Amino acid sequence: MFLCRALTIPLDAAGKGLSLAGRLRRHRWLVTPYGALMELGDLQRLMAATYGEQDGERGIPATVAWLTEELGELAQAVRKGTPSEQLHELGDVLAWLASLAEQLDLSLEDAMARYAHGCPRCGAIPCGCRAG
Ligand SMILES: [Zn+2]
Repeated sequence: MFLCRALTIPLDAAGKGLSLAGRLRRHRWLVTPYGALMELGDLQRLMAATYGEQDGERGIPATVAWLTEELGELAQAVRKGTPSEQLHELGDVLAWLASLAEQLDLSLEDAMARYAHGCPRCGAIPCGCRAG
């Protein structure tokens, strides 16, 4: 399978004649009932292009420290911040999470793939674990 980096659409011989939607449907792990997980990959690539060099120099332990600090700022914004401040902190946490995934050479898409079709434990949307 060839992965088209620009569009993040997996292509293979059987999928060449399919529309974009068809190709996405064919690779079910990329698409949830609410949209494509590939947008996470786009986010990760954007952060890598923007900050990849300095992230690499900073290293993983410092990135974990920054992510933790940003999570603390998000917690504070949730408790007593404005929606605008909460939005800002949500973005910072996502950006640092993407940076960490990139440095670990792991994909946020792959990380979320086990949630793509519902609760990883019961397989349902919404989760039915509490009902059991
Ligand atoms: Zn469940």
